[in-house]
Amino acid sequence: MNRRVVILGAGYGGLLTALTIRKHLRAEEAPITLVNRVPTHQLVTELHRLTAGNIREQALALPLEKLLKGKGVDLRIGGVESIEPDLKRVRLTEGSVLAYDTLVVALGSETAFFGIPGLRENSFTLKSVEDAKRIREHIEEKLDSFARGGREADASIVVGGGGLTGIETVGELADELPAWCRGRGIEPGSIRLYNVEASSSILPGFPSELVARAQSSLENRGVRFRIGQPITAVEGSTVRLGDGSAIEAGTLIWCGGVQGHPVVTASGIELVRGRAAVTADLRSVSHPDIFVAGDSAAVIGEDGRPYPPSAQLAWQMGETVGYNVFASYRGADLQPFRPVFSGTLASLGRKDGVAVVGARLTPLKGFAATAMKEASNLRYLSHIKGLFALAY
Ligand code: NAD
Repeated sequence: MNRRVVILGAGYGGLLTALTIRKHLRAEEAPITLVNRVPTHQLVTELHRLTAGNIREQALALPLEKLLKGKGVDLRIGGVESIEPDLKRVRLTEGSVLAYDTLVVALGSETAFFGIPGLRENSFTLKSVEDAKRIREHIEEKLDSFARGGREADASIVVGGGGLTGIETVGELADELPAWCRGRGIEPGSIRLYNVEASSSILPGFPSELVARAQSSLENRGVRFRIGQPITAVEGSTVRLGDGSAIEAGTLIWCGGVQGHPVVTASGIELVRGRAAVTADLRSVSHPDIFVAGDSAAVIGEDGRPYPPSAQLAWQMGETVGYNVFASYRGADLQPFRPVFSGTLASLGRKDGVAVVGARLTPLKGFAATAMKEASNLRYLSHIKGLFALAY
């Protein structure tokens, strides 16, 4: 039987699904169409580094043509307009329609703005290589303007949200901004780099000693924290906080959280907390011919709450979905998804980091945490190369 597999999204979940299917099934047996917004597989866990300009774009944006070369995957570059699960088809933004027998939804998530007035219009998000480049260009323009005698706000940067994205971003900027200033004859002390966090602590979920360590490491490099202060509104360059104060900032980077992908929420498949509700083997609970991988799915943990989205989960889900597409094709038993948590690693710039690793959540800090983060990036790259070698 020849079954058309359509995969939406070539992030961690989608790419790993495609490579894993090809480990088991040849192109003649299971034609795959992979749809992605851009022609690259983006290593989004390192976007903060591209924002600060200490990594090359080519290291984070891997051409899909190359990653899938010879694998018989029909690559379509473009957006997904809608999923019509009852008609078993997908509409692309350029107008074409793809019919499927099995659909894999791996579209990721999108930035949540929580209805905060003016936030969407006046901030940068950090979800893609394009976003990271835009932020960097913008900060450089603002610094050029400041060097020419522009407004003080031009030298002020606010990163909203003190979760992993926000903290990794301020850490990288704190390291690199002094060099950007020196190159423009700006006194580095005139830069104001803020992190604004609504809850009572940055890095929610991390042990308090690591939170304290992260905060002091960043403060020592000039980061100004506003903790326990939600951003409540943004008017142009004025960032308003919960206590009635305001920060004038030429750049606002919004890292305040993510929500389900709008194409998934509008598709009519069953949702839980804005993401696709899935069975133990990662099929949509309402549409068994749809598998879901990565941030698009809500996988419920033992505590009854969805696991927080992460690259390591997306990668593992892609492999389970890839195997399960093959198993369903062969009429074999599907595998339940059993996530393995290796830990959480937060870089605080190039020379510092904090992490909790292993089953016992062992705390790590400094060089050990930084080295673990580098090692986990390399492990991912060697893993996809290994899968490529195994795939038909
Ligand atoms: P997040 O939801 O984890 O953190 C967002 C933070 O913004 C929270 O601390 C929240 O209190 C704060 N916030 C919300 N509204 C606010 C407001 N109005 N004003 C100020 N602060 C506000 O989002 P994230 O950091 O983008 O991470 C998203 C997911 O990706 C998480 O599950 C995270 O674990 C994962 N992630 C992992 C890594 C890593 O493993 N190194 C890196 C980045 C992201």
